[in-house]
Amino acid sequence: MEILKRIDKGYRLIEQAKDKSERLMNVESIKRLKHELDLILNEENEIRVQVDQARTGLLIKEKQLSDIDRQLLSILEKLYESEHQNSKILQELKKQETILKDKKTNLEDEIMKEFYIIEKYSKELNLFKSKYNKVEKLYNSKKISQNEKVAYLEDKIKLMEKKIRKLRKSADPNLLSLYDKKRQTMKVVFAKAENGVCEICHMTLSTSLIEKVENCSEIIECDCCNRILYLEETKDNDETL
Ligand SMILES: [Zn+2]
Repeated sequence: MEILKRIDKGYRLIEQAKDKSERLMNVESIKRLKHELDLILNEENEIRVQVDQARTGLLIKEKQLSDIDRQLLSILEKLYESEHQNSKILQELKKQETILKDKKTNLEDEIMKEFYIIEKYSKELNLFKSKYNKVEKLYNSKKISQNEKVAYLEDKIKLMEKKIRKLRKSADPNLLSLYDKKRQTMKVVFAKAENGVCEICHMTLSTSLIEKVENCSEIIECDCCNRILYLEETKDNDETL
């Protein structure tokens, strides 16, 4: 019975360690940092889209500008060739030249604006990058420390499992199988008999039953909840089996 109780305690310690490690993996501060990282990435991506759009716009406008330059050049050539021709053609050419020059000025303004936008966004991107790196560093260091704690718990669980295997080998096979069956159906297998009452179901226990428990010669179950009764808590040094 003493061995069974130690095995039972081992299982409970393992459950506690597993719960704790699960909680560690889900710690709020880590989740918050991860969320913050996601937000920064999203904003960064949105800006990248804007930069790409501005770059595409810039390319189109630069191409338009070189088209206009070509047209202006051909007008200049024509003006030079028709220097002595009739004034009507000259006038028409001059008119076209003026229109093209206006267009050129407008385009150059727009190109400047695109450049300005790209530069502004590039600066923002750099800010985001340094912000991201900072949060990422914090996130990683937190995660590492959590992982270390989790690894420690996992080692402890393995050690306890080993101890339980050893204890199971030395336990009475019949009692062990009785215990295993109970464990499958109830979370708590052992119940303390205190002041003549079962601590789990609060059923009053008969004097003869308590006497049997005191004798400790066999396994005595509570009549009501079927848990294995015991009288005194085994030395409870939390982490040892
Ligand atoms: Zn009971």
